[in-house]
Amino acid sequence: MLYIDGAFESAADTFALVDPTDGRTTGTVPEASAAHVDRAVAAARRALGGPWGEEGVEGRRAVLRRIADGIEARFDEFVAAEVADTGKPRELAATVDIPRAVGNFRAYADLLYGRAEEAYPTAAHGWNSGAALSYTLRRPLGVVAVVAPWNLPLLLLTWKVAPALAMGNTVVAKPSELTPRTATLLAEVIDAAGVPAGVFNLVHGAAATGAHLVAHPGVDAIAFTGATATGRTIMGAAAANLTPVSFELGGKNAAVVFADADLDAAVAGTVRSSFTHAGQICLCTERVYVQRPVYDRFVRALAERTRALRPGVDYGPMISAGHRAKVLGHFRLAEEEGATVEVGGRAMDQGFFVEPTVLTGLGDDTRTVREEIFGPVCHVAPFDTEAEVVGRVNDSEYGLAATVWTTDLSRAHRVAARIEAGIVWVNCWNLRDLRTPFGGLRSSGIGREGGAHSLDFFSEPVTVCVGIGAEQ
Ligand code: NAD
Repeated sequence: MLYIDGAFESAADTFALVDPTDGRTTGTVPEASAAHVDRAVAAARRALGGPWGEEGVEGRRAVLRRIADGIEARFDEFVAAEVADTGKPRELAATVDIPRAVGNFRAYADLLYGRAEEAYPTAAHGWNSGAALSYTLRRPLGVVAVVAPWNLPLLLLTWKVAPALAMGNTVVAKPSELTPRTATLLAEVIDAAGVPAGVFNLVHGAAATGAHLVAHPGVDAIAFTGATATGRTIMGAAAANLTPVSFELGGKNAAVVFADADLDAAVAGTVRSSFTHAGQICLCTERVYVQRPVYDRFVRALAERTRALRPGVDYGPMISAGHRAKVLGHFRLAEEEGATVEVGGRAMDQGFFVEPTVLTGLGDDTRTVREEIFGPVCHVAPFDTEAEVVGRVNDSEYGLAATVWTTDLSRAHRVAARIEAGIVWVNCWNLRDLRTPFGGLRSSGIGREGGAHSLDFFSEPVTVCVGIGAEQ
């Protein structure tokens, strides 16, 4: 259902939901028209002038906590909905997607409460004829458009909705058309939490709905997570209205395995970083560089462990038939470019599953090693020196994440400081403290979210300067 101005509604048009584990249609969802989007934006604008606009930190914090409690109270429903939409293993949804969505609301409730603003006492001097106290107030931006992808549907939606609400904004959210179920449940939870009408609005639909929303002159900010190409299109629309944007986009993330690394840990870590959610996480590893003395051993062990992964248990399907075709196209391209397929490389005879795939033998200038595939695949290449591998890792259009495996402490810090990526993990992968900045360099994004960075993006600082003791 759509959720506009505090009411659930259907629509004349609908689109189908498909179960990616077997390709069957499982339901339909109302598709928001331009008129629905217009009404949602108008409702969000009105709500800024209502009780929500008067709500203080305590009140907004209480709302966020009620939403977190509401998701938790319907935890199993949320998990089932996420699994139905994405086909991901239940365990992944139950340990990552839904708990982290709850965590997003709790974290921003706490961060909001602990937040202090700047204040500067200024003495009279020079052309300052009197003393002054300057302090900062943070105002909401207004109506925020949140556009989210399908890979971690509720997690990435709430990652933006929670801080946007924390700072007193109103929201019009558009989840991916491939994964709308948990967003609808979230609207139910928000409705039950007594959030005033118009503060949170939900419109379902595909690119056309999203395009109408982000180009809307009534939208004051756009928070988008998705593909780099989509980010470019949205930025074009945003330019017309000078709408501020926060973008979390694609990646071609590298892992570097030094010869001194704990090889078992590096292999196990790379299996996780390349094949979790069948590689459909923006932070997944698609390029692996292994120092030459351990290269053969690493490739053998990685291939062996990859072969042992079980469909449905360790990884799920591609999200859609279209995405499976794209990933399989990349597998064919890799072979045309001369890759050796160490394991995998084919579609499976089940829903939209494809085999977890390890490739070797390609140069860094091939499309396979340069373009984001967003599937269960990594290419492994040998390297010799630290300086060489840092250069190769950084030679990318993207700069989202990287992983370094080494037991040499100095090297870990040295290499981490030189890699050009928004986050560098050392001897781990995808550990995320929600207080840390998150985002990408270059084509991987614009701006930082996470902790105080999100609260900054979703608000406008203004200075108040109070003259003290000026001449009578
Ligand atoms: P996508 O860009 O196709 O879609 C994302 C959202 O944008 C969807 O809701 C879609 O309907 C909407 N959309 C599409 N065209 C639009 C337009 N012209 N105007 C407005 N909205 C539009 O991305 P996807 O396929 O859903 O997600 C996969 C991509 O997202 C990958 O490239 C991945 O790397 C990236 N991603 C990045 C991060 C990150 O944090 N950096 C996280 C997850 C996914």
